[in-house]
Amino acid sequence: MTYKDLANLIFPNITKTIEDYEKEYPIRNIKEDAMVTRFAPSPTGFVHIGNFQQVVMNYIMAKKSGGIFYLRNEDTDKTREVETAVEVIMQVLRYYGMEPDEYEYDGKVIGNYGPYIQSERKEIYHAGIKHLIEIGRAYPCFCDKEHLEQMRENQEKNKMRTGYYGKYASCRNLSAEESIKKIKEGLPYVIRFRSNGNFDDRFWFQDLVRGKLYLNKNDQDIVIMKSDNLLPTYHFAHIMDDHFMRTTHVVRGEEWLPSVAVHIELFEAMGWTAPKYIHTPLILKQDGPIKRKISKRKDPEALMRYYMEKGYPVEAVIEALMTIINSNYEEWHTANPDKSFLDFDFQAKKMSSSGGALFDLEKLNNISKNIISKMNKDELYEKAYEWSKTYSEELKNMIEQDPKYFKQIINIEREQKKPRKDFETYASIPKEIWYMYDALFTEAHSYAFQKIQDPEEISKILKTYIENYYDELDDKEIWFEKIKKLTTQLGYCADMKAYKENPDAYKGSVADISTVIRVALTTRAMTPDLYELLKLLGTEKIQKRFQKFYK
Ligand code: GLU
Repeated sequence: MTYKDLANLIFPNITKTIEDYEKEYPIRNIKEDAMVTRFAPSPTGFVHIGNFQQVVMNYIMAKKSGGIFYLRNEDTDKTREVETAVEVIMQVLRYYGMEPDEYEYDGKVIGNYGPYIQSERKEIYHAGIKHLIEIGRAYPCFCDKEHLEQMRENQEKNKMRTGYYGKYASCRNLSAEESIKKIKEGLPYVIRFRSNGNFDDRFWFQDLVRGKLYLNKNDQDIVIMKSDNLLPTYHFAHIMDDHFMRTTHVVRGEEWLPSVAVHIELFEAMGWTAPKYIHTPLILKQDGPIKRKISKRKDPEALMRYYMEKGYPVEAVIEALMTIINSNYEEWHTANPDKSFLDFDFQAKKMSSSGGALFDLEKLNNISKNIISKMNKDELYEKAYEWSKTYSEELKNMIEQDPKYFKQIINIEREQKKPRKDFETYASIPKEIWYMYDALFTEAHSYAFQKIQDPEEISKILKTYIENYYDELDDKEIWFEKIKKLTTQLGYCADMKAYKENPDAYKGSVADISTVIRVALTTRAMTPDLYELLKLLGTEKIQKRFQKFYK
């Protein structure tokens, strides 16, 4: 009995061969240097920022080279699967404008290299495994858990490398006949790869971030097919999928670096060329004095959901990630503020590989503030409104009750050389503008009066102003002249220069008077332009707000 008989016994229904699949999934008809990249998440129900960073890189590489970016759902670990996971992934990709060219979602398969869901690719994997068994490069292993645990303990005790290899790999010595007999007896088994490697031999491999790496050859007979669901392990699925989907560049986390030797040997055993690899460094967070791995358990900002819920503009998150992908991005972006990240000359080798990349929320906040400050009112309105429909009932209500009024509010000090920068995210808009809405003004608020605190004085300022000076038809110049007149009438200094030269000679300045008006109107000492605020509120609302302070 031969390996062929063994292969037929294990996979009696697999009739298609590797050659058949080579024809079914031909080399892609794209330019020679076009890159085919993929995002291959496991369906865990969230997208980690580290994975999203890889998405950005994959997307750039495919788009800039005229290639393909596709999504593959790696659902072979059924125990970790979350039902809505693919929805979450597509939602994140679409939110950030990184629509894959090929994917399977919502009952649709887009692309000719599918299925794009691993659990639907069983036959392809089985054809690959069948082939390896036939050529003697894979075999069934009947070792049970207890045996493997015992083996590991012994290895540890004797300070040997752990794993199923060399003399420890007992089932690799079974003849085809012996294996067939055990299978016929109904013994459970997994399929293992038969490694030809010698661990003491070294080889080099080129990682596009880290450069040439010298590694020990693989000698582990790793499991390639699990017994419970007959699905392949990550290692084997990676080989089959990235070959038949014709991936040219694999971008994945550095946690896969130790598996490279296995993958290279698997590709060799199949007679295929491995894709190019980019192993991305970990994303770190500054935690007090230390930098540590950003963690989905401890840090909400580890997951993309955080940035979506907070309402960071799409461009802000991409920009913040680009600055850690290539450290020269910031300089380039400053010199080319109107260009898209896709115009940037991204280079994997410029990525930092030593120790990880620091993702700084403070920096993101700054980027975000700047991006929002540069939007015109219509753009900000559209984006904030769109965002609010999913994430903020509060903002949505504000906008919908009077879209024009909302636009006027956000337009104060916008579209000018030094625009307002008080909106850090879309979510922060209500807390910066609530005071423009009477309905929100009913609760008790504390008023941030500054230099002038005396209730009698405050009452006098507000009353005199509204009764003798304020006229909503005034232009800004006249309006300010009147504030100055009010200032002088009440014995304060209307000329800031004179005041600064001799502050003790006056009760206070025009700035202190304006502050009283500002605080009485908004509760705050700092707001955008007071003239515009007054105008938008209108005399009636102003009066109502001032009345609270009349003595
Ligand atoms: N499913 C693997 C993961 O989520 C993918 C790694 C890869 O991109 O090959 O880690």
